[in-house]
Amino acid sequence: MGDVDIAKNCYTYRVVVDEAATYEDVGTQNVASGSFKWEIQWNDLDLSDTILGKGQFGEVRKGVYKGEDKHIPVAIKTLKSKATVEDKDDFNAELETMKRIGHHRNVVSLIGACEHAGQLYVALEFVTFGDLRTYLRTTRRRDKSGATHRLQPTRLMSFALDVAKGMDHLSKLGIIHRDLAARNVLLDDDLVAKVSDFGMSRGEDVYVKTSKQRVPTRWLAIESLCYSTYSTKSDVWSYAVLLWEIATLGATPYSGMVTRNLAHELSEGYRMPKPASLDNAVYHLMTECWNKNPEERPSFAHIAATFNDMISEIEHTYMDTGVYANVQFPAIEPEKDDY
Ligand code: ADP
Ligand code: MG
Repeated sequence: MGDVDIAKNCYTYRVVVDEAATYEDVGTQNVASGSFKWEIQWNDLDLSDTILGKGQFGEVRKGVYKGEDKHIPVAIKTLKSKATVEDKDDFNAELETMKRIGHHRNVVSLIGACEHAGQLYVALEFVTFGDLRTYLRTTRRRDKSGATHRLQPTRLMSFALDVAKGMDHLSKLGIIHRDLAARNVLLDDDLVAKVSDFGMSRGEDVYVKTSKQRVPTRWLAIESLCYSTYSTKSDVWSYAVLLWEIATLGATPYSGMVTRNLAHELSEGYRMPKPASLDNAVYHLMTECWNKNPEERPSFAHIAATFNDMISEIEHTYMDTGVYANVQFPAIEPEKDDY
């Protein structure tokens, strides 16, 4: 793919894709008098041996949903056999959230779910290109001449815009994601970014965590770290960490810092410095998202509008990872990657 093609795609697909597309193409079986039913038959689901990902509580397999008219590639999420009652409750909550989300171009959609032999299978739209973090890191590789593949700034900005649009949709439905990070954003064939993994999401305006769950510490807002309080505005904080991941091509946030010091450092006012690739205006937006007062952080609608404007300024580059030809890449520390 040449740079010009990438840039062109960024603009064309926005026009071509209908944001309000319905699920009629899923197959008539699931479209009963215009309303979509989420239940699918076990016999209509083909599970392959290909494991797409493994999480803490389950796995994701590639499969096919055999609708009446056509077959649809799907990603099928299940729980491990050793799952606890709490894991099952969380998984059910994930399914309930996905039902409410419906369809949005920048959110991974639910195709349907079924229960078989006491096991819940959740079929999701299959997103072909893998997760955003892996993609960003792959572009760091140097070719034989030592040069890195230079990602088009427009491409990076469109990732940021896509995620903001997806999150704007969720926030308007009153859904808190709680695990927004580049590893949980998936890319389709056209490199459209889609928010994914609703394993920790909640449909309340403000959620106070009580159960013991995995905590993605490095992506958490200060109030989530200190008081276990979550809201759309704490998702906005995590979004800015994700933005930082984009600007650093998948570096580990606060890599030089041990996890247990994070809450203290943030309370003292520490924030990650501006990545070399980033324009001051984007860094300003980032630090607004890291305001210690959640109310003062911008909304996803504002963030999306800002990126929309920035992308249309062809003559100005807001995110240029070409600088990493001369400046060292910010560090990746796999052991601190997810928490
Ligand atoms: P977990 O809660 O275990 O982190 P995720 O929903 O993040 O589960 O899925 C784990 C991995 O499975 C992802 O990183 C991705 O590689 C793969 N995966 C998940 N959903 C899809 C999908 N809809 N299409 C393609 N791959 C997917
Ligand atoms: Mg995940």
